[in-house]
Amino acid sequence: MYVVHNSLLEYKSKLFDLIYEEMSVELGQSAHLQKWLTMIKDCLDIDRAFLYFYSESAYFLYHPSDNEDVPLTIAESKEKYMVRPVMVEEEDDFTIRFHFTNKDGSPLAILLVKRDDRKEEADAGWLQSFWEASNQFLQHTDGIQTVLDDEKRYRELFKVTEIFHSTRDVHTLLVQIIETLKQVFPIDEFHLLLSNDRYEFGTLPIKNFDFDRANESAMQAFVNGSIEVKEKDVLYAPLKGKQGIYGVLEVKSKAHFTFTEQKIEFIRLLAYTAGNALENAKLYEQSKRLITDLQLINETSHQLNLNLRLTDTVLFLKKQIQRSFQASAIGFVLVQKGEYRILEESSSVFFEQEGEKYISYVRMRIEKERDAIFLGDVSDRFDMGVVFPSVMAVPMIQNEALLGFCIVLHKEPYMFSFDMYKLLQSFIHHSTLAITNATLREKLEHMVITDHMTKLFARNYLDEEMESSMNKDSMGTLLLIDIDDFKAINDNYGHQIGDEVIIGVANLIKGIVSHHGFVARWGGEELAVYLPSLDHEAGNEIAQRIIEEIPVNTDPSVTLSCGLSTWRVGDDQCPKSVKELVKKADEALYHAKDNGKNQVVKDCDGIIME
Ligand code: GH3
Ligand code: MG
Ligand code: MG
Repeated sequence: MYVVHNSLLEYKSKLFDLIYEEMSVELGQSAHLQKWLTMIKDCLDIDRAFLYFYSESAYFLYHPSDNEDVPLTIAESKEKYMVRPVMVEEEDDFTIRFHFTNKDGSPLAILLVKRDDRKEEADAGWLQSFWEASNQFLQHTDGIQTVLDDEKRYRELFKVTEIFHSTRDVHTLLVQIIETLKQVFPIDEFHLLLSNDRYEFGTLPIKNFDFDRANESAMQAFVNGSIEVKEKDVLYAPLKGKQGIYGVLEVKSKAHFTFTEQKIEFIRLLAYTAGNALENAKLYEQSKRLITDLQLINETSHQLNLNLRLTDTVLFLKKQIQRSFQASAIGFVLVQKGEYRILEESSSVFFEQEGEKYISYVRMRIEKERDAIFLGDVSDRFDMGVVFPSVMAVPMIQNEALLGFCIVLHKEPYMFSFDMYKLLQSFIHHSTLAITNATLREKLEHMVITDHMTKLFARNYLDEEMESSMNKDSMGTLLLIDIDDFKAINDNYGHQIGDEVIIGVANLIKGIVSHHGFVARWGGEELAVYLPSLDHEAGNEIAQRIIEEIPVNTDPSVTLSCGLSTWRVGDDQCPKSVKELVKKADEALYHAKDNGKNQVVKDCDGIIME
């Protein structure tokens, strides 16, 4: 007979102490189980004890020191397990196996005790009582542990909910979600897979939800908004708000105790809370962005209504686009007489092979689809590698005719959000008419001989006059005049006043030049004077009068810079063609500007041209 010396009563009273301690002292489950195993060793007078906990379909060896669970498969214990209530004598006489169960009879744990030199038989009745007491203890301690764990988690959840509701910053939120998960389930691995927008994730375990490559469970969680478990150890919980799903939380379980109902419920709650918080933060960001976008659109249409020249319109647009999207490259392409013209205001890359690739791709698609293009990563669309994976392109369509398109690129993939795309469409939509007008205006300007605004001659008319003068006269002088810092006039007084200043300057110059020559509008705030049969000195005299008189007779006062060039029959140093004459005057004007403005520079002033 296996005589156990220690009384069962003593064992039970120790168990009671342990349960009491467990409820009052925060020691952690493993310390309690360790104490219990020591008690068993004393009570049963045995050498070794092994405890296995049941999880899913197998028992796992409980190993308090380093948490390494060594599985004992069900196959080994299954048959014995069927024999309930459950105390079984082992094949060899030195081992006894106790099966412990939950209240509902489902498996909870197995205890193996071994005695190396067994002499006596065990008393079946005594063992039965021992089993009953131990089983009760285990059920109890398991229950307490679950409650304690749950309490700890829900306290975390409560804490984090508070933080969630107090921040509007998406990044802070994401950090908080990850931190909470790590605290509550320290040995699992987490990833947030976010759809839509891009944030700077740094070292956070956050990825973009890749719809092309996501696995089925992740996809299902995202599409159905349901919790999905894949192969028992990976779980996907949707980050769901009231208006949509913002991504999924991926949990990879590192423990053998996979996803219990409590754990799933907790993850579901956390993901739901996080989804809502994320939604709030996004809505807040969105509303802030919406306001800026509206301001931008408002400012843009206002500016575009000023009837700018094509260059100004395009430059303005480029600036707005740059400011709003931090684009790496911006291109404007116009269709003119069936030919595509890349406007010179476009980023330089569009004049290189790399940029042309994008232009021909966009052109092909826009001609066919007549629709805007929004691509997060074009790397797999082009054969060669790409420098700019993010692409947006919007066609300019006026009265159903394709006028051209605008391309916006970024050197990082997925850099443009859907909101940006919508904003770009709005920009282009608003400016298409302005671009049409500016293009038409430039065409018209070419056809008429007087400038509508200043009533001066148009540039092409002056060209013709110079041409004929060089054919019949023996000399002549050209003045190219540019208003200094005119942009500041527009900025400070508005375009209306700007126009009036140009008109004023034009009239003053016309008065000074009188019958000596022709005054033309060269473009924008640049004017030109051609003085047939006047030489260098005579031309310079008129130029000096212009430079001196304009500032005192304009309000707001403006100064002018002037470049002068002369031609003379038989002089080899002189320009031989209108083109050369203009080039010399232009260079001289450039130097007048460079030299401090408000002055005349002559083509023979001996300045070394860079
Ligand atoms: P700089 O001394 O170097 O010439 O400086 P600037 O500011 O005059 O030169 P810039 O070429 O940078 O700017 C010329 C400005 O003139 C820009 C353009 O919007 C404005 N402009 C051109 N044509 C017109 C026009 O017909 N009316 C008005 N109001 N502004 C015009
Ligand atoms: Mg100018
Ligand atoms: Mg100027």
